[in-house]
Formats: sequence, C-alpha cells, structure tokens
Amino acid sequence: MLEVRNVSVRYGQHEALHGVSLDVAPGEIVVMLGANGAGKSSFLKALGGMVKAEPGARATLGGADLMQLPAHRIVEAGLALVPEGRGVFGDLTVRENLQLGAHPARARAGEAQMRERVFQLFPKLAQRLNQAVRTMSGGEQQMVAVGRALMSQPEILLLDEPSLGLSPLMCKELFAALARIRSLGVGVLLVEQNARQSLAIADRGYLIETGRLVGAGSARDLQNDPAVRRAYLGAA
Ligand code: ATP
Repeated sequence: MLEVRNVSVRYGQHEALHGVSLDVAPGEIVVMLGANGAGKSSFLKALGGMVKAEPGARATLGGADLMQLPAHRIVEAGLALVPEGRGVFGDLTVRENLQLGAHPARARAGEAQMRERVFQLFPKLAQRLNQAVRTMSGGEQQMVAVGRALMSQPEILLLDEPSLGLSPLMCKELFAALARIRSLGVGVLLVEQNARQSLAIADRGYLIETGRLVGAGSARDLQNDPAVRRAYLGAA
C-alpha cells in the first residue's frame, strides 16, 4: 500500500503543489485528473525522487519512507515510474530496455517470469526484441516503457500521461493492458488528461487544480459528477 501525505513542491518562489495526500492499494487503478500545469507531473516526480518535496512530506510503501530515499532506492522499494515522454533508451533494443528494467535486486530472481508476463501483455514486444526502440511507433515505445517499468517488479506503477500522442486504437490497447496489470496485483497510479478512458478503467480518482486536490471519489461517482463532466468529459 502506498500512502502519501502532505506533498508540496516549490520551484523557487512558485509553489507547484500544495499538501497533496493520497493512497494507492495493490490491485487498484487510481487516476489523478487535472489540466495542464495543475501539478500532476510534479507530484509523480516527487514520489520518484526526481524533485525534492518540501519538508513534512511522507510517502510510505512497505515500511520505507520514499521521501528519504534516493531515486534508485525508490525503485528497490517497489515503486516504478513511467515518465512523461516515456524515458526509454532509443538507441537500445527492446530486449536491452527490458533487461535494464530488471536491474533492481528485487527483480533479478523473477526476471524470466516477468518477461513472459510482459510479452503476454504486449505480444508485439516479443516479436521486436532486437529492434532499436527509436525506430518504433509512439504506441510501441509506450509499451516498451511500461514493460521496462514492470520488469522492476513494482508494487506500485506510476504513469505520467501515457496516452499522450497515441492513436485512439493504441490508447485502447494501453488502457486494456493497465487493467490486466491491475489483475496481477500491482497498484496503478495514472496521471491523465484523458478523463474519459482513464475513468472507464479506474477504480478511484482524485482531481487536482493549481497544485491542490479539490475532489476525490469512486470512478463511477466522478463519471457522474456534473462538475467533472463539464471540466473533463466535455459535457454541456
Ligand atoms: P502538464 O500536464 O502540462 O505536464 P502538470 O499537471 O504535470 O502539467 P507540472 O508539470 O507538475 O504540471 O507543473 C506544475 C507547475 O509547476 C506549472 O506551473 C509549471 O510551470 C511549474 N513547473 C514545473 N516544473 C518546473 C521547473 N522545473 N521549474 C519551474 N517551474 C516548474
């Protein structure tokens, strides 16, 4: 269980995130919805150790406080992040990217088994093992990014706008894969602007506006909430 409390992030004078708290349990998909610049990426970067949260923040996963750990130890603790723009190694092959994902000590014993799971989720990757990732389509690269993150055998998987720039068909495939990842018992925290498709697969959601959480609820309640429908689902 990931329990996050009171995360604030400042860039100089600008407070991008103010006191954000949320939970993600194993085997659930949680979506954080917010407009451009609302602070979603800053939140994920704070969890992943790429930006420093203000003092007073806590993020516990299996007893470890992630806020006290350097980025590589955060992965060891069971949190994997698929950053915006994917963060894959374009000059390396699919095989090499997946191998790099299995680098944490926690992942080595089960590497072969996890690789099979990744191939079940994304059969295309098994056929493209020796292809350089930069020569793949955006959707295929996103599969590599998610596959690589899974290779670390995370308890919690964070994804920063994975649907950005994907075709409708690729989006559908990606969200279907996330639902299958949930069924492996992994907790998924998804940051998205694509409210319609993410709420359709999520269990719960949080709304973020200008750095603050302004709402939370079950995916179904959020889908039916008039304010959510107006702001995120394009309803009149
Ligand atoms: P997007 O969907 O556009 O990525 P977001 O919700 O992920 O938006 P963040 O990227 O977290 O939002 O940005 C939140 C605020 O912090 C924005 O006002 C942004 O301009 C600012 N910000 C983000 N990174 C930095 C930085 N490195 N230095 C200064 N300001 C930053």
